[in-house]
Parts: sequence; C-alpha cells; structure tokens
Amino acid sequence: MELVNLKESSDTASFSQAIVRGLGKNQGLYFPTAIPKLANMDQLLEKPFVERSVEVLHALIGDELGEGVLDDVVKEAFTFPAPVEKITDDIYTLELFHGPTLAFKDFGGRFMAQCLSRILDGKPVTILTATSGDTGAAVAHAFHGIENINVVILFPDGKISPLQEKLFSTLDGNIHTVAIDGDFDDCQALVKKAFDDQQMREELHLNSANSINISRLLAQVCYYFEAVSQIPEAERDNLVISVPSGNFGNLTAGLIAQAMGLPVKRFIAATNLNDTVPRYLKTGEWDPKKTVATMSNAMDVSQPNNWPRIEGMIERGYTDKALLKGESVDEQYTHLALRQLAQAGYTSEPHAAIAYRSLTHGMESGEKGLFLGTAHPAKFRETVENALGQPISLPKALADVAGEDSLAVKLSADYETLKKHIFDTLKGNA
Ligand SMILES: *Cc1c(COP(=O)(O)O)cnc(C)c1O
Repeated sequence: MELVNLKESSDTASFSQAIVRGLGKNQGLYFPTAIPKLANMDQLLEKPFVERSVEVLHALIGDELGEGVLDDVVKEAFTFPAPVEKITDDIYTLELFHGPTLAFKDFGGRFMAQCLSRILDGKPVTILTATSGDTGAAVAHAFHGIENINVVILFPDGKISPLQEKLFSTLDGNIHTVAIDGDFDDCQALVKKAFDDQQMREELHLNSANSINISRLLAQVCYYFEAVSQIPEAERDNLVISVPSGNFGNLTAGLIAQAMGLPVKRFIAATNLNDTVPRYLKTGEWDPKKTVATMSNAMDVSQPNNWPRIEGMIERGYTDKALLKGESVDEQYTHLALRQLAQAGYTSEPHAAIAYRSLTHGMESGEKGLFLGTAHPAKFRETVENALGQPISLPKALADVAGEDSLAVKLSADYETLKKHIFDTLKGNA
C-alpha cells in the first residue's frame, strides 16, 4: 500500500510507515494514493464479518505485513459483532458498541494496537493521544499491557461523561491519563505541538493513535460492509447512511467503503451545534467557531482533523460533494430524537440520536436510512435518563469501573507543563 501526505506530495509512506509515523511532514495526513474497486460485491457481502474484513483490508493494504499477519490481526481485533437493528419500516441502526469499551472506537483502536505491536516487534513507542471521550478508552484498553508501549491520554477535564472517564483513567501500568483544563481542541493542539517537538518525537518515539492514524480509518471501513450485508438486497440501492460526526474519521471510512464499490446512495454528515462542516457544505466557506459543549460530547469538535481527507477524496473524484449533505442538530432536537427512538422501542444515546434526527429530517421518499450507533447508551447514562425520565441499566464493563477512582493527573493547557509531566512520568516508568 502506498500513502501520500496530503500537504506534501513528495512525502509518501507504506502502511507500516504511516501507522508508525501517524502524521506526516508539516502535520500532513496520509491518504492512500489509490482506492481499489472491489469486484464481486454480492459475493463479498455474503461472507462472514471477519473473513470479509480480511479481504477488504487486504485489498487496501496488500501483502506488506507478511503472510497470514492480516488474518491474525483481524481475528484478534474484531472479536465482537456489529449488528443492524430495525427501528422503523424505513430506518435501521448499526450498533457499533459491542466491544470492550462500548463504542465504535474499539474497532480502530484494537486493529491499530494489533498491527502496531507486530510492526514494532519490541521497539519502544509512546502513544500520545487526545480524546473527546471514547478514543481514550478504546486506545487504553487496546494497548493495556502491551510491552514497550506507553500510552499518554489527554482529555478535557469535566467535559466527558464521568463513566466515559472511568473506563480509561482507572487503568494502571503502561496507561497514563491527563485531565487538561480546556476543551478537546486544546487537547488536540497540545498533541500537535508535541509532534512538532523534535526532542519529544525522538526521545519518546511518539505515535498518535488519534483518528488521524490511517490504520484506524481502514479498520472502520469494514463495518460499513457489515452494515450493508445485513440490509435486505432490494433496499441496498437506496440506502442513505447518517454518520454522527466529530473529527470525521467515521465518515471518511464510510466514503472509502463507498469508493471501493459498496452500494451506498449517499451519506449525511450529522453534527451537533459544532457545525463547521454542515455550514461549509452549504456555503462553501470554512469558518470554524469556538467549540461549544453539548450532550453529544464526543462530537464537540469545531476543527475536525479528518476533513482534509474528505476534501482530498472530493478533489480526486472518489466522492461526489453534491451527494454529501450536512445536518446540524441542536440540544432540544437531540432530546426529542432520544424520546422518539424510545417511543419506537429503542433506547439510544445523544450521538446516535443526532444521526437519527438528521436522517428523518433529510431522507427523501423511496430512500432507506441507516444511522450509526456509535456508543452504548449507558456511557451517557445521565443524559439518557434525563431525556427519557427513567433509569437505564449499566452493562458489566461499566458497572465494573463505576466505583473505582480515577488515576488522571490534572494539568493546565500549557505545553511546557505537559512536556515536563510526560518526561517525569515515563522516566519514572522506564
Ligand atoms: C468519536 C465519536 C464520534 C465522532 O466520530 P468521528 O470519527 O470523530 O467523527 C461520534 N460518536 C461517538 C459516541 C464517538 O465516540
């Protein structure tokens, strides 16, 4: 597989190089130089999830990991299902929250950890990542206990749900968590600064497991195939997929799946009040506003990192901008959507509810809709109980950590403070 830096076309990388580097020169994102078109789609869709995913990833990545390695990686990473549930006659949801940390980020996090530990083969590395909630947990669990890999996770203090925080800040050993006094964009900016810092990069062998890491996106391509495989054949040609979006990695993966030949009529980019992309798609003007906190906090991002990849796909003709619609949903309609879903007999959570609302608002007659269920409702327990006026129960993964203490260290959003903290922590740990 060859990838190219979208900011510096002379900077190219193999899959193994791109996964280790994370970001390219000048903070550019890596993207495949070509997206392969798959033949025999109907046959492919009939295959079981793991077997099909190996084929999809092999078409993208090729043989560079070595004989049988991709098979092993996918088998160890994708150990849980992604079922489609029917909500109404015309609307389905794809449940992506049956992994260990109850959000779709388990797919990318676990695939990346399995690939990276094989590629590094014992060489030390420090994963430094910012999380708006679910990435942290997925990455921490995926890398917990892997030798020679240290993980440092930054998250905006008080801006993610308490249970979300508990899922990763309670892990010890090679997992280190920092609560930053700021918002997600501040955390993301600190990570970018660290990657620009030669001393940090070289002494700590930095790697970001953010959705800017191409391996995560490639893993996510697989569950779009899984979604369509569960939709009745007669409905596949009219399928609209609504993606609750923050950093836009999930939507990028969906667009890659479509470019590979997966039958999807169009996508809806669903956001909360942080609506940089829906406004951009309407007006053509890129005008990020200050990030506002919402109940769908994993999507509180106003400068989405992955957008240049989507822009790149549009420029290269892999995606038709005219078929990409944006929808922004405010807090009141998010609440309403949660209640409507409950009336239809389905307990959801704010991120998926935004995608559902965007679908019901934006679907045309004859179309079938599918929205991504990106997290388990219990991860957003307070919000969901508040909207529905009734208690919901905790699955085991959450019940287990609910009573434990957070081990996160609180720091201001100052780069030098963070740098010192990281060096002190990891030296003490070496
Ligand atoms: C991360 C996350 C999103 C946003 O996904 P992106 O790929 O960043 O657009 C949506 N919902 C949940 C629950 C998430 O954790």
